[in-house]
Amino acid sequence: MQIAKACLALLLLLNGIVGCAQNRTTWNNKKCAVALTYDDALNIHLDKVIPALDSMGFKATFYLIGSSDAFTKRIPAWRKAAANGHELGNHTLFHPCYGKRPGREWVRPDYDLNNYTMLRAVNEIKMNSALLEATDGKKRRTLACPCGDSKVADSSFLYKVKDDFVAMRDGTPDADEVNGFGGRTIQWMAPNGNTGTQLIDAVKRAMESNALVIFVFHGVGGDHSINVSAEAHRELLQFLKKNESQVWVAPFVDIAASMKKQ
Ligand SMILES: [Zn+2]
Repeated sequence: MQIAKACLALLLLLNGIVGCAQNRTTWNNKKCAVALTYDDALNIHLDKVIPALDSMGFKATFYLIGSSDAFTKRIPAWRKAAANGHELGNHTLFHPCYGKRPGREWVRPDYDLNNYTMLRAVNEIKMNSALLEATDGKKRRTLACPCGDSKVADSSFLYKVKDDFVAMRDGTPDADEVNGFGGRTIQWMAPNGNTGTQLIDAVKRAMESNALVIFVFHGVGGDHSINVSAEAHRELLQFLKKNESQVWVAPFVDIAASMKKQ
């Protein structure tokens, strides 16, 4: 999938680490927090990922593109997932990214963020939120920018939509400013071909540094060019289950709300 290929450069950027000291009570009285997030509204999320999460009692965040087939053709399934505790996050209506960058040939001119006005960018995000609210009945959710791109000309649209969201999933300076999480350690991992051990090591690092680690998944066992195997994903879930007393696994909206409260 073209959108899929597109996100990789951004995701690598998100692999940075920002941090400061904090105490153990930060993460629901556990050592660390894990936000499992899945981008781009994929059929495999409904067919394989959600059943795997539900079998272990974990709730996650799915960043949905309102115009995607896997959303428009399967709204009742997403509604059921939300009723079951998963977050339907906003990944915009048409997934606009900057097309004039290396590796971004897949971006259609109509959906090149360089060609957007601020009003169009904001309106499409708000329309996607309306679609998601019509699906899950909820007003609280988070936003993840496609490819991490959020600027129209020199201004970020995040400031225009910040009151519509509990938080932004991205690690850009604008998202940091809008989120105002303060001195928390936040780590990102955007898996692509990683082994189960590598995924687990990311959680171990978060446990050691009392951090929140945000996993940015796309395909799991296929359905996207950015992908991890179903086996690696299962190994991660099994590790999280085994360490449930020390690791807080929750939708990003809940972790972000907790961070803001503190
Ligand atoms: Zn995306």
